[in-house]
Formats: sequence, structure tokens, C-alpha cells
Amino acid sequence: MKIVDVVLLSTLLSVASASHQWYHYNNDFYVYYGCLSALGKSATFCKKGNVGKCVCTNENALGSLLYCGYTSTKANNTGINKEISKGCVYYNVTDLTNSYYAEVYAKTLDTIVDVSNSTSFNKTEVVDYPVTSKKLKKLSHDFYISVRNRRGNIKTSHALGIAFVAASVFVMLASGVVNWSMRLSKGVSSSLDNALTRKTRKFFNLAIFRNHLHPTVLGFSPDVVETFWISIMFLYSILSCCIIGYKWYENDPSFTSYQTGTSRYWGDRSCILFSYQLPLLFLFPGRNNFFQWVTRWKYSRFVVYHKWLGRIVMMEVLIHSFAMASQTYGLHKNTRFHADWYRYGIVSTVCGCLASTVAIYAIRKHWYEIFLGAHVTLVVMFLWTGWKHTRSQLYEQFYWTCCAIWVFDRFIRLCRIALNGIHTATIEFFPGDDATIKVHVKKSKLYRNFTPGSHAFISFLSKNTFWQNHPFTAYESVTDPDTITFCCRVKKGVTRTIANKFKGSDAQSIQLKILVEGFYGEQSYYQQYDKSVFIAGNTGIVGPFSHIEKLVSSGSADRRIELYWGIRSYDALKWFGAELLSLKDKNVVPRVYISQPERSSINSSTDSTDSDHKNEEGDGILATEKKLSSPELETDLQQVLEFVEIIHGRMPVTEIIEAELKENTGTVAFGACAHTQVVDLVRMEIAKRLPSTCKRVDYFEEMQTW
Ligand SMILES: Cc1cc2nc3c(=O)[nH]c(=O)nc-3n(C[C@H](O)[C@H](O)[C@H](O)COP(=O)(O)OP(=O)(O)OC[C@H]3O[C@@H](n4cnc5c(N)ncnc54)[C@H](O)[C@@H]3O)c2cc1C
Repeated sequence: MKIVDVVLLSTLLSVASASHQWYHYNNDFYVYYGCLSALGKSATFCKKGNVGKCVCTNENALGSLLYCGYTSTKANNTGINKEISKGCVYYNVTDLTNSYYAEVYAKTLDTIVDVSNSTSFNKTEVVDYPVTSKKLKKLSHDFYISVRNRRGNIKTSHALGIAFVAASVFVMLASGVVNWSMRLSKGVSSSLDNALTRKTRKFFNLAIFRNHLHPTVLGFSPDVVETFWISIMFLYSILSCCIIGYKWYENDPSFTSYQTGTSRYWGDRSCILFSYQLPLLFLFPGRNNFFQWVTRWKYSRFVVYHKWLGRIVMMEVLIHSFAMASQTYGLHKNTRFHADWYRYGIVSTVCGCLASTVAIYAIRKHWYEIFLGAHVTLVVMFLWTGWKHTRSQLYEQFYWTCCAIWVFDRFIRLCRIALNGIHTATIEFFPGDDATIKVHVKKSKLYRNFTPGSHAFISFLSKNTFWQNHPFTAYESVTDPDTITFCCRVKKGVTRTIANKFKGSDAQSIQLKILVEGFYGEQSYYQQYDKSVFIAGNTGIVGPFSHIEKLVSSGSADRRIELYWGIRSYDALKWFGAELLSLKDKNVVPRVYISQPERSSINSSTDSTDSDHKNEEGDGILATEKKLSSPELETDLQQVLEFVEIIHGRMPVTEIIEAELKENTGTVAFGACAHTQVVDLVRMEIAKRLPSTCKRVDYFEEMQTW
């Protein structure tokens, strides 16, 4: 495990240790608290100070407390003694011992006065003897139940919070054990291949709902495994918030009405539960989240859990806020509205709600940078005001933990950028259908983190783009072993801005300073399979190509590799032709499906350009169309066209999978990175056929969206 992971793990553990302060409520505490509260309302022993302080220095007060506590439990109960000693530490009285308590109690038995029927006893006048009474006993019982309900609820809430974190960590560790074993040993993955596991994988691991990756207005839908865990998290949280387990006691001296008692229980339960969930909420979206390494899950899966845990937390924040508002109303404590801690709580709730709202898919899709900026700002506000709100309640450690996790992740990201340094990248632009830019950058120190399929976040250091960073998948350049390359499809944001730099220029390439933050991503283990089948679309070819590069350079000669690439027009061959050619004489023959060849700005014989061709990305991108006539490019394309198998039409995913599985006698790994609907289809088709395959078949989704 990396040092980064160790530090992050210890940060998370600190939240567990921080929780120890609130977790020590036991029956002796309730008895002590009940007796002490009742004593405070029944007699006066010290001229100054409250009864809590008085029992630490006044033997009559202490004797009365011990008498009350011991008669409710057992004589010389050291548990009660311990609670009294703990309370006195607060008043700097630290020398109370069990023998001292025994001595005071023995004396008290001789001197105690039952004031139940005394007419001369006045509870506001200082007395110099220990007291007891029926009323005191009854009151101590009422306080006992009151505090048992309230603190017991807090104790249960802590237990539920700890159980949530423990269960989450357990699931991740268990998943990590399975995934690591499969990864490290071919034997394990084969031994886990039987009728039962195939059915499980078909209906659970690989199963998806409609439009899994293809977003609807509500965004991406989690797969079945994710949905299962999200449902459990939801159910657990809802049940934990709703089944309090403590009923309001009608003689409760602290909460005198049902509303004030019950709303407090709900308020405490929900806030303690989400306090434990918060560190996980901040850990999951971190790019350096060590659980990625432990579980071998994709980053996008953690993002899914982050989103849903965020919704659960917000549900609990709202329960907490409404419950406490209800209690405030019930107590007629309007003064709370003037208290800073209360106001900070309101602001924190509003910030949390807004942070969730700006994260809706429509905003992320169309205004990603606005979403990111607003989300981060609101989350900072949520944390800061939440910390201010909870500071007086000893819950602020949770907020510090979140802060530590977040700041640490950002720090590591900065370190990665700094170690990679500022690069002068060579950027090539390939106009035409599905215009693409290629970014070539020299390998840096952090290159050793690179594994096939890794991605890095790039910041283009130009005036309008330096503040953004976007993820792109990298591969080793086929022309220069010291260079890595990114292929970025031109969309409407930063990629468009970079593409527009070529507008009105004849330049084949430009130099631009960039920052590279990476490398991230877990490598799928294709090397363990007899055959690897890659299904890619457009720039989705990059990840599979990177895997193929690795497989052909290290693999045995009899390993089979199949590559299917779906593109819209011949134009894509211009920016990836050299890479395809590099596979010549290796045991891979790429099959390229061209769905709309008529849209190409070149045709299959590379002898023409289509100047009338309309590009959906706009005129600026077509500005360098004339570059296509360069003789080198024509030669390359000619060679590519001779080498690869070109098929006009859409990629027939179902037929491909059927054929690949039919003619197969060994283990097969499928990898897909294409249009979202294609990837969903690949996954469904493989899942469908799993029970009837002759050997183990696995599927690696090389595509990530968030
Ligand atoms: C792990 C990963 C690897 C990727 N690899 C490649 C690749 O090799 N080649 C390639 O062409 N594309 C790749 N992408 C997609 C690429 O990141 C986006 O196309 C790019 O960020 C769009 O930039 P833009 O500002 O031009 O897009 P816009 O037109 O502003 O947005 C287009 C889409 O990209 C999403 N997007 C924008 N910014 C980000 C961001 N910072 N992080 C995540 N999504 C964002 C938006 O939500 C929107 O759906 C990858 C994405 C991920 C998550």
C-alpha cells in the first residue's frame, strides 16, 4: 500500500477514535445522572455552585448522592463511584477514591435524614446533613428514565453510525479479497467459475437496468450491484432514523411534552448517523481514495456511491433540521434563533441542499465547470458552518476528519501535478467528422504509475482553459517511446477552445503548456485470459489499444486478441491510423466498422476530400480541411486501409459476441469502451450468455462516466 493510502487510512481511523468521547453511557451513568439531577432539585448543600460541583467537595451532598445511587443499584457500586469521579474531574477534583466513597457512605448511613414528612425542611436552604426523601427517589427515577432515553438514544445512534462505517469497510475489504485473488491467480478465477457463480454474475454482477450508462434526465442509473448496496444503505439509514427504540416518558422532567421529547430523539439519531457517514462521503469521490486500490473498483463506482450517500446524508440533515425546529417550537425557545450555533445549523442545511441540487445531471452535463465550482464552494460552506454548528456539541471531529480527507486528496493531487511538472505538449488537430485533438507529452517521473487504460487529468494552460482539468485516457506513443499520447474528441468546452486555436491556421500542430495530473485507474487483467476481445467506439479505442500494446509486447504467441472499432466515418483513421498500423505483424487484425462512410472528408481510396461535408461541431473545426491532402497522410491511410478490415455499417454487437463465444474453447475477457448504448448492449449480451459458455468469460467495462 502506498504511503498516501496509509495516511488517509489513519485519518479515517481518527474519526473512530474521536467518537470515544460520547460512547460511554451505561446504567451506572443513568443512575448517577438521575440522582444528581433529582438532588439538585430537592436540596441545597453548597452556598455557591451547582450540585455537580458541590458533590465533589461536600460530604453531605456526596453522601446523599451515594445513598440515592447505591439504593437504586447496590451498595458501594464502584460503577457509580466512577461516574461521580468522572464528573468531578470537570471541576478539577481528581483525588476521589473508592475507599473515600465507602467511608462517606458508611457515615451517611448513620446521619442521613428522610425529609419526606418534614415540615421544617426547605430545599433552598443549605443543610449540613445528607438527605433522602420519597420525592427525591421518584424524581431520580424520572430523571433516570429521561436520561436513559436521551443518552441511550445517543449511544444507539453512535452504535448505528459505527456499524454503518464498519459494514461499508467490510464490504469493500471482502470485495477487495475476491478481486485481488482473481487478479493475482488464474486458478482462483477458474475455481470460482461454476453454475452458481455464473448465474450470480448474470443476474447480479453484470446485470444492469435500462440506460445504465446512457443517461436519462435523471442521470446514469447504477448497475444492479450498486443499486443493491445503495438500497441497503438507504434502508438502513431510513430504518435507523425512524425506529428510535425509545418512547417518550410522560413524567419526563426534561422533555415535558411528547413533541419536545420525540423530536429530540429524531434530531439526535439522524445527526449522529450522518456524522459517521460524512467521512465516507468525502472519501469516495477523492481521486486518491485508497479504497480504489483495496477493492479494485473503478473510480466511477465510488462516484456513484458518493452521489447516493450524499442524497442519504441530505435526507438525514433535513430530518435533523426539521426535528430540531419542531423541538424548538415545542419548547417555545425562540431565543435559539438568535444563537450563532443554531443559525450556523440553518445555513449548513441550506448549503448542503444547494450542493446536492447543483449536482443534478442536467447541470453537470451542460455546465460541468459551473457545477464543479458551485458544488465545491457550497460543500466548503456546508463543512464550515456545520463545524461551527456542532463545535459546542463535541461533534466537530467528524468535520475535521472530512476536511482532512479532502485537503489531503487535494494536496496529493497538487503533488502529482508538481512531480509531473509543466509540459510543453504538441497538440495535433484532426478536423472532420468527430474532430479530434491529439496531445503528445513527454513521459515524466510519474509515468511509472501508468498502466494500460490509465487516465490523467489535463489542464491546458491557455487564458480561457487553465483553471479546468479534464480526464483523458493515455497510451504509449507508437512513434516515440518517450512520449505518451491522449486522443481527445472535440466537444463543446475546453476541447473546442483548443481546436479553435487551429482556426485560420495552416499549422499541423501547435505547442501548448499543459499540466498533467495522473495517472489514475485500475488495470484490467486481460493477460490471464486465452482470448481478449475489445469493442471500442471512436476515442474509446485509446484504452483498449493501450491494453493491446501491453498484451502484444508481453504475451505469448498463442494468445488471441480481437479488436472491433466502430467509427462514424473514415476521418477517424487519420488520427488513429498510425496506431492501427503498429499492430501489423502482431496477432491482431483490427476490424473497423464505419457507420456513415458518406460523411467522410476522405474516401476509402483516400483520393478526395469532401468540402461540402457538414460538421456538427461548427465551421471553426473544419478550418484546416486542406491538411488532408498531405502526401504522408495519404500513404499512411493507404497502408492502414490495406491492413485493417473495413466494414461499412454499424457494429453488430450481438453477432460479434455470439461469434466470439461460439468459436472459443478457452477463457475470454471482453473489454468495452464505446458509445454508452453500445457498452450497455455488450454487457447485457455477455451476461445473457454467461451460463452457457464453455470456459470462464469476463467483462471489463473500460468506460467511465460520472
Ligand atoms: C476516466 C475518463 C476517461 C476519459 N477518456 C477520454 C479520452 O481518452 N478521450 C476523449 O475524447 N474523452 C475522454 N473522456 C471524456 C472527456 O473527459 C470529456 O469528453 C471532456 O472532459 C469534455 O471536455 P469539454 O470541456 O470539451 O466538454 P463539454 O462539451 O463541456 O462536456 C461534454 C461532456 O463531458 C463531461 N465533462 C466535462 N468536463 C468533465 C470533467 N472534467 N470530468 C468528467 N466529465 C466531464 C460533461 O458532463 C459532458 O457530459 C474521458 C472521461 C473519463 C471520465
